[in-house]
Amino acid sequence: MRFVWCARVIGLSLVATLAAGRLPASPPNVLIIFADDQGYGDLGCYGSRTIRTPNLDRLAREGRKFTSFMVASSVCSPSRAALLTGCYPKRVGMHRHVLFPTSTTGLAPAEHTLAEQLKGQGYATACFGKWHLGHLPEVLPRPQGFDAYFGIPYSNDMNHPDNKGRPPGGHAGMDALWADPESSLTTWKTPLYENEEIVELPVDQRTVTRRYTRRAIDFIRDHRDGPFFVYLAHSMPHIPLYVPDDVRDPDPRHAYTNTIEHLDAEVGRLLDALDGLGIAKNTYVIYSSDNGPWLGFKHHGGSAGPLRDGKGTTFEGGQRVPCLIRGPGIPPGTACEALTGTIDVLPTLAALTGGALPAGRTIDGIDVSGLWRGDVGASPRKEFLYYAAHGEIEGIRQGNWKLLAKQPRAQKQNAETAAADTPQVLLFDLEADLGERNNLADRHPDLVDRLRERMLELDREITANARPQWSLELAEKNRPGHDAPAGE
Ligand code: MG
Repeated sequence: MRFVWCARVIGLSLVATLAAGRLPASPPNVLIIFADDQGYGDLGCYGSRTIRTPNLDRLAREGRKFTSFMVASSVCSPSRAALLTGCYPKRVGMHRHVLFPTSTTGLAPAEHTLAEQLKGQGYATACFGKWHLGHLPEVLPRPQGFDAYFGIPYSNDMNHPDNKGRPPGGHAGMDALWADPESSLTTWKTPLYENEEIVELPVDQRTVTRRYTRRAIDFIRDHRDGPFFVYLAHSMPHIPLYVPDDVRDPDPRHAYTNTIEHLDAEVGRLLDALDGLGIAKNTYVIYSSDNGPWLGFKHHGGSAGPLRDGKGTTFEGGQRVPCLIRGPGIPPGTACEALTGTIDVLPTLAALTGGALPAGRTIDGIDVSGLWRGDVGASPRKEFLYYAAHGEIEGIRQGNWKLLAKQPRAQKQNAETAAADTPQVLLFDLEADLGERNNLADRHPDLVDRLRERMLELDREITANARPQWSLELAEKNRPGHDAPAGE
């Protein structure tokens, strides 16, 4: 009886919806555009005076700009693991720096990724661009919840198969590469994958930004009736920088600006495609970067704007990144300065798309949909841990306070930091001192002790409950029917 009543009500509302000329709304689509090594200061809407980004600025006008949005590592692989799992990299065993073409490890397929979350809710899913969570077939995007993959599986300065024979580094080396755009084909051996196969070796890096975008647009068009999830992880502006010949500025001093402006134009093509298909209002577009700028490459790297330092460090310049979010329920033209970051994206999107997180699995992310929708109150995220690029715990933020307990092996990415007589313990009030210049550790010893104890307590829990990364050796050992080699 109750079923009949429900069916009747649903039937009537469907008739009313159709009579009003509307189809039942599909759950919102999700498009994440993740740049590589783009700094906090490298967008017009974040204050750049040298780089023009009209399309990213449009996203800011039509969406919400986050000014305290953190990545969970200052280097690629751990940062990407965090975005896709909603966990600190250490919890999923991916905290120890980046993977290389010789690596035989990757993100464990047993982890629950954002793609698996949305696929489980009926989404079509695709990954275009840089993966960097393992390039062996068992750990490429398709076993992690994506229906399709097309891209460079690691950094674009890595060579298949042995990463040997790389061109000279440094900004002078990059100047020479920029002066010879054919160098993408003549001096690199970087592969392009379609699903688990290499389809181009070396890849012509000049056109990867455009080709990733085209693939994303094609996928969106094919799935316009939704819902879809596209993870578009650009290889640029990680060095070496390349742009299509038809937009290239030959002056190497303009290489980075040229690359970002091309990236921005491609973002514009995507926004136009969403408009043309009439699905912009039902699509979350999230634009961010995997870590801060690679400052040592000078004009081939970006700017962290008002923040200290860049990629490879736990200063804000390494881990605070630009983030723009547009979509249903997001108040246009607003800014959010509350603390959040990539680890909160998975649970937040699950909430906004009507999904439930899997039971019995610890994740570090928090549903911050209130922040996305315009709450000006306090963030549910009260704390954030900073892990060094090699995986050691190094800092904590609580409210405005940030403690860094720097380890001797911490990377020093540029001359400014390397030359500084960096003390071991740094305490900053980020509200008053966003640029982390004024160390207050001596003035607040009790606060230092309290923050350090809390940092270690949280890290101990993660360490005790960390889940292993995938490794080829372990997988082969555990394979059913595996026999010990003869003679053993
Ligand atoms: Mg990066």
